[in-house]
Amino acid sequence: MPLSIQNLTKTFQGFSALDAINLEVGDGEFLALLGPSGSGKTTLLRIMAGLDRPDSGTVDFDGEDFLAQTPRQRRVGLVFQHYALFRHMTVADNIAFGLKVRPRAQRPSKAAVAERVSELLRLVHLEGLEKRYPAQLSGGQRQRVALARALAIQPRLLLLDEPFGALDAKVRRELRRWLRHIHDETGVTTVFVTHDQEEALDLADRVAILNAGRIEQIASPLDLYQRPASAFVHDFLGGAVQLPGQVSDGELIVEGWRTRAPDGAPTGQVILGARGEDLSLADEGLETRIVSVSPRGFRTRVAVEIKGHMLDLDRPAHDPISDLAPGRTVRLRPDPIQLFKA
Ligand code: ATP
Repeated sequence: MPLSIQNLTKTFQGFSALDAINLEVGDGEFLALLGPSGSGKTTLLRIMAGLDRPDSGTVDFDGEDFLAQTPRQRRVGLVFQHYALFRHMTVADNIAFGLKVRPRAQRPSKAAVAERVSELLRLVHLEGLEKRYPAQLSGGQRQRVALARALAIQPRLLLLDEPFGALDAKVRRELRRWLRHIHDETGVTTVFVTHDQEEALDLADRVAILNAGRIEQIASPLDLYQRPASAFVHDFLGGAVQLPGQVSDGELIVEGWRTRAPDGAPTGQVILGARGEDLSLADEGLETRIVSVSPRGFRTRVAVEIKGHMLDLDRPAHDPISDLAPGRTVRLRPDPIQLFKA
């Protein structure tokens, strides 16, 4: 594995920001670090970049000890949410900056820099804007310049910290697709920090979920969704309710509903996690009340209340649940039944 992190720990004034982190990132892989605010994502990225030092642990890249190298020696490309471009420099000069400050022996000729800049302008679809200044660009265009600048040095590792965080939802989605495309073209190993689950699941080959300085799970988006390792992961991916229950003698009791516990279920106090799309009408199931039904073209948004918990169900327009009137009490059965240890 090119990037290998072992037992990484970082404290700030006695506060544990990272606690025994182990993480491997494969060659050309796109990994997302996903977690709530304060979970340690930025701290981990800064240590990879060489902007911060861990208290203990190792960071190796292709067998080299990254911690013994300066940020420049590591040859990482960085893009932050507010990674200010140089305001007094044109787009072309911003992109060329990293090349011009390379150690003398590795510095390309003027002609080579110009060629690389136009190649990058094409890659990020900013041809024709090379003479503009950052103030003359939209937010999305600025982040594309920042990315081109990061890619100019042909980084061994591309690190992005909420690069689209300040942009509106539509531009964000566009840039997301485009970033994935650029990643696939360049094959650069990428670590992407976000607190937006949709963004992480959409973009990444694998997602590492951070919670309070620890990694809860590292898996592909599909695996995280189908086999969340903890109630935290299940909840953080969104669109779900969690209800306390009890398993004993192979039977699950949750909010008055009794059913056979699935094979391999934990026993004792448990948490039942149910996603909207896993629920269907049944004779036996969780007692729920339909709160509202809002048709939206091909889909219908049905809000239900389950013992004081609210859940939005996104259903097809022609679905038995979509046909129900608000106020009706119905039974909904989750399939699969996902249980976590309480
Ligand atoms: P966000 O999504 O809000 O950026 P994050 O997951 O990136 O959060 P970090 O910025 O890595 O979280 O911070 C992790 C924890 O470490 C937080 O509780 C933060 O307050 C603390 N922390 C980070 N940097 C410092 C610092 N320089 N001094 C003191 N505490 C810090």
